[in-house]
Amino acid sequence: MKANDVEILVVGAGIAGIATAYYLAVRYKRSNILIVDEGQPMALTSAQSGENYRNWWPHPTMAAFTDHSTDLMEDIARSTGNRINMTRRGYFLATRQEKPEQLLQQLFAGYGACASDSIRVHESSGDNYSPPVSEDWITAPDGVDVLLGRDLIQKFYPMFDRTISTGLHIRRAGDISGQQLGQYMLEVMRPIGVRFQQASVLGISKADRFSADMISGGERHTIKSDIIVNAAGPFASRVSAMHGEALPIVNVLQQKIAFADRNHAIPRQMPFAIDLDGQTLAWSADEQEALSTDPDFSRLLEPMPGNIHCRPDGGEHGQWIKLGWAYNSEPGEPVREPELNPYFPEVVLRAASRLLPSLKQYLGALPRDRTHYGGYYPMTKENWPLIGEAKTPGVFLTAALSGYGTMAACAAGDLCARAIVGVSAPSFARTLSLRRYDDKALMAQLAIANSRGLL
Ligand SMILES: Cc1cc2nc3c(=O)[nH]c(=O)nc-3n(C[C@H](O)[C@H](O)[C@H](O)COP(=O)(O)OP(=O)(O)OC[C@H]3O[C@@H](n4cnc5c(N)ncnc54)[C@H](O)[C@@H]3O)c2cc1C
Repeated sequence: MKANDVEILVVGAGIAGIATAYYLAVRYKRSNILIVDEGQPMALTSAQSGENYRNWWPHPTMAAFTDHSTDLMEDIARSTGNRINMTRRGYFLATRQEKPEQLLQQLFAGYGACASDSIRVHESSGDNYSPPVSEDWITAPDGVDVLLGRDLIQKFYPMFDRTISTGLHIRRAGDISGQQLGQYMLEVMRPIGVRFQQASVLGISKADRFSADMISGGERHTIKSDIIVNAAGPFASRVSAMHGEALPIVNVLQQKIAFADRNHAIPRQMPFAIDLDGQTLAWSADEQEALSTDPDFSRLLEPMPGNIHCRPDGGEHGQWIKLGWAYNSEPGEPVREPELNPYFPEVVLRAASRLLPSLKQYLGALPRDRTHYGGYYPMTKENWPLIGEAKTPGVFLTAALSGYGTMAACAAGDLCARAIVGVSAPSFARTLSLRRYDDKALMAQLAIANSRGLL
């Protein structure tokens, strides 16, 4: 084959494209693979991730999918002396509801057949409950601990507001370094033939093979390939339009902040803490007036959804904390450098201090050591990914990874690689591909679901 001829062309060197190439090369021994990206690897959405992972979902398919990904991440952590910095203090979901029946139903539904073995309910002393004193993923317990009652929650988590009456502690959850995961995969793949080229794909046509027209350093060139993997993140629909296919994906901008917690407001051993309850933010009369005059910001005066989250970042001896809130629901046309909402840092801090009152000391006084970042969640309506065959023969997708692409990358890459080489896949693979839209009963069930697992 000529230098510009490859077997598999992967469009996108975010974590999705890299993981797909990794499983194709490492597990399925495909070597003639080229990954192209208009920027550097891991530099777009994959650089904005909160890097958290969990197996808590409202549907067992997504739980099985992220469990599979966690198994694969564990393999890498084990074989590299934990180069990917995998930790496991869990996700702690907090609510003021004393009897959150719907939430518990969802919890049991999400864990499916494993629910009764996985879920432990603690009502009085919590003697059998072990808080996450260590970040070690190997010794961390599995399953979920349900803590019922304010006193029990205060006993273990005095940093939470006293109104918190129920806590769900998801144990197979924590954080990883997504950047290290991507770098590790690139390092393993290069010596076995996977190449990377910085180039922007402008058009795709097909005769006997695909021809992808590209531009790199101002020069146009064409790459021919048998197979195309669309792992273009927020631009997946744009890439699929190049070969005449539409994807059911919208992009929604979401943001996070991180800052140095100089006053030690957040204990370093705290799990990833999520306030499940919605709230209406308290603004002064002047602030209300300023916000109400701007249509972009008047939304902040209305009742806001739950799921604001906060966690320590950088280990026990670190000082930074991360906060996020995926409250935006307006789809937008993606751009490489989206404009962020200047109010977001103050908004997220205000909202997070409802669960963690010690954060109030930073209101109006956020430390200068801080970052405010954001990127798009490319989402299907049901918030499930699109992995495997596209409608166009020869095109495969590792796409629509919403706000869970870091945690799901290994499984997504593995499932897409299996679809390409034609080997069997776990039973949930079909429902994570475009083929699920043929299953009217499943789609009807997802359309009326109370939660889409969006964080
Ligand atoms: C604020 C925020 C917080 C998040 N937090 C978490 C979290 O805690 N846990 C988690 O699991 N996930 C999280 N995510 C989601 C996660 O970051 C993404 O799902 C994941 O990074 C997506 O990877 P990707 O490879 O699909 O996309 P990207 O990283 O965007 O990669 C796509 C690549 O395709 C390239 N590309 C596009 N079009 C072309 C073209 N025409 N030619 C050449 N190259 C092209 C782009 O340059 C880009 O590099 C978060 C996302 C955001 C925005």
